[in-house]
Amino acid sequence: MSVETSFSALLIHGTRQIVYWALQPILIAASLYLAHTNASLDTHILFITAAFCIITLFEITIPARPEWRKSAGETAALLVFVFLAGAAYALIETLYEASLFKWMAGLSEAWRLDIWPSQWPKIAQVLLIFSAFEFVNYWYHRASHRWGWLWRLSGHSAHHAFKKLSGLNAVANHPLEGFFLILPRAIVGFLLGGEAVGAAFISLTAVTAILAHSNLHLNSALVGWFFTTNRYHIHHHSQVISESNTNYGCVCIVWDRLFGTFKDADTKDTGIDDVQPDYRAMLLMPFKR
Ligand SMILES: [Zn+2]
Repeated sequence: MSVETSFSALLIHGTRQIVYWALQPILIAASLYLAHTNASLDTHILFITAAFCIITLFEITIPARPEWRKSAGETAALLVFVFLAGAAYALIETLYEASLFKWMAGLSEAWRLDIWPSQWPKIAQVLLIFSAFEFVNYWYHRASHRWGWLWRLSGHSAHHAFKKLSGLNAVANHPLEGFFLILPRAIVGFLLGGEAVGAAFISLTAVTAILAHSNLHLNSALVGWFFTTNRYHIHHHSQVISESNTNYGCVCIVWDRLFGTFKDADTKDTGIDDVQPDYRAMLLMPFKR
């Protein structure tokens, strides 16, 4: 083995070790630091974009499953699907803002539900809204797997249809699922308040969701007690239904641990079938049995 070959092997090994042990803790700590320093929404968006690029770079160079590397065509198709879902999400949010949220805000004011602990340190507030949001999301997610009509109507099957996962899959949802995904946040906001920490909460949720879908070797031992790691979430994407009916917390695993749906096991194949359906079939999923 030449000196050059052994040096690049050492470099790859070292990078794998750093990513395995440190990537998720560093990104979580950075999200909480931004919360602590009251960073602006623009800074959070910049941070999420940088984190996504770094994760994608590692997925290309040191993937956990090399067979999950996407071709340029597969990436382009996924990007179009994600863009479509994002546009639908924005539209649905506007619809909710003008109707349901307006009504809920009026109710909240009338009932004086002013219980948010705004005197707490910012990091504690972020962790509180993070776990409260995930509590509601956990039950929606569990219900969507349990009840056939919700599984179909929400199009959640489209999110599960992918055979190759990567960080980008965190936002690969059916456009109609926005109707359901936006609601938990509104319910938590209505009951607890805490919208002021919204921007800080976005970073923590986004980086954890991207990592939970990432094709990287990550350590679950420490952060995995509270945060969802990709070992747990990829298991939720398993093709085996009994395995898929576990680990419903997309970013916070603590509710699965408490409500008995936590599972720590290896995953063979992901998806809902041996072959990934085409995007047309995915878009039609809410309308077909
Ligand atoms: Zn699911």
